[in-house]
Amino acid sequence: MIFDLAIIGAGVVGLSIAKSCSELGMSVLVLEQETRSGEGISSRNSGVIHAGIFYPTGSLKSKLCVEGNEMLYEYALLKNISCKKIGKYVVASEDQELDKLRQIYNQGNLNGATLTMCSKDEITAFHPDLRLAGAMYSPQSGIIDVPELITALEGDIQHNKGIISLNTKFISAEKLNDHFKISCNDGNDFDIKAKVLVNSSGLASEVNSRKIHSLDSKYNYPVFFAKGHYFKYSGNHPFSSLIYPLADEFSQGIHVGFDMSGQLKFGPDINWVDDLDYSFDESVKDNFIKSIHKYWPSMDPNKLQPDYVGIRPKIQSPNEKMRDFLILDSKDHGVDGLINLQGIESPGVTSCLALGTYVASAILR
Ligand SMILES: Cc1cc2nc3c(=O)[nH]c(=O)nc-3n(C[C@H](O)[C@H](O)[C@H](O)COP(=O)(O)OP(=O)(O)OC[C@H]3O[C@@H](n4cnc5c(N)ncnc54)[C@H](O)[C@@H]3O)c2cc1C
Repeated sequence: MIFDLAIIGAGVVGLSIAKSCSELGMSVLVLEQETRSGEGISSRNSGVIHAGIFYPTGSLKSKLCVEGNEMLYEYALLKNISCKKIGKYVVASEDQELDKLRQIYNQGNLNGATLTMCSKDEITAFHPDLRLAGAMYSPQSGIIDVPELITALEGDIQHNKGIISLNTKFISAEKLNDHFKISCNDGNDFDIKAKVLVNSSGLASEVNSRKIHSLDSKYNYPVFFAKGHYFKYSGNHPFSSLIYPLADEFSQGIHVGFDMSGQLKFGPDINWVDDLDYSFDESVKDNFIKSIHKYWPSMDPNKLQPDYVGIRPKIQSPNEKMRDFLILDSKDHGVDGLINLQGIESPGVTSCLALGTYVASAILR
C-alpha cells in the first residue's frame, strides 16, 4: 500500500496536519517515536491561546496565529475541550516603557488583533497590588487544555481512518519515482511508502531533515534549543487574566499564566542549552523574583515552587532576531511531495489548526 501522506511527529502540529488532510480524504499515517502523542514540545508550554499581537505583520506567525486563535476556540467548543478566554494584559511597569507598549499596540492592530489601551488609573483600579505605568488589554487571549486538544485531534484522525503509529521511530527517507520509501523502527526495522512526506518533528526537525536523503542540506536549518523554566505560586494573588511584561526579540518575558485548574504559574525564562535536558535549574529563581517584582512588588518569593521546563526549537541563534515559522515545499527545495517544518515555536499551539489547513493546501497545490 502507498499512503497519500506520512507525517513525522504526533505533536499538536503533526496531528492538526493529519486531521486536515484526512478530512480531505487522504490516507494518512503519523509516525510517533514516543508511547503517546504530544510528549514533545506540545506537553511543555504555557497553554496560552495567543491573539497574534507581537509578530511582524505578514509573517506566518502573525497570520496563522490570528486565524488559529478563532479556529481553536471554535474547535474547543465543538469538542468540549476545556478552555477559558480570560484575556491578557500586556504591561509597562515604567514610564519609559510606554513608547514600546504603544508600538506593540500598533503592531497588534495591524495584525488584526482586538486591543484596548488602558490608562494607569484604569488598571490600578482593577489591580491595586500591581505597579504599572500603563497596559493594553487583549480580550481574545486565553488558555486551553493541550492534552484534551491532543485527544480530540487523535479522535478526528482515527474517525477519518488515519493511523497514528506510536512507538514508531522515523529512521530515514528516500525519494523514488512517485513516492518516498520511508524506513521506520518499532522494535523491528520496516519500510512504508507514501506519496507525500511531512517532517513535523519539532525539536528533532534538523536531525530528521538530515535523514531525508533527497533534501539538499542547505534547506535544513540548524535548530537551537532555548530552555524555559516555570515556577508555580502557592499563595493568594490578585490575578484573573494573563499578565505579560513587554516582550523582547527572544521571548515574551516571564509572564503570569494559569493551568486549567486555576493554578498560578510564572514563566518561561530563556536559557540557551546544547542538549535536550529537562532538568530544573533552581538558580534561575533570583531572576524570576526580580522580573515579577517589577510588576508585582508584594509577591512572596517563598511561595514560588519549581514546576516544569519546556524547550523551544529556535532556528535563529542566540543573538539573531526572531525568525518566522519555516515551512518549505517543493517550490523552495525542489523535492516533489516533501514539506519540511522547522522553528515551530510559540505560537504553535494557537496556530496548530491553521497550520493544518495551510499544509493541506500546500499539498493540494
Ligand atoms: C516554553 C514554551 C512555551 C510555549 N508556550 C506556548 C503558548 O503559550 N502558546 C502557544 O501557542 N505556543 C506555545 N509554545 C509553542 C508550542 O508549544 C509549540 O509550537 C508546539 O507544541 C509545537 O508542536 P509540534 O507538533 O511542532 O512539536 P512537538 O510537540 O514537539 O511534536 C513533535 C513530535 O515529533 C516526534 N518525533 C521526533 N523525532 C521523531 C522520529 N525520528 N520519529 C518519530 N517521531 C519523532 C516527537 O516525539 C514529538 O512528539 C510554547 C513552547 C515552549 C517551548
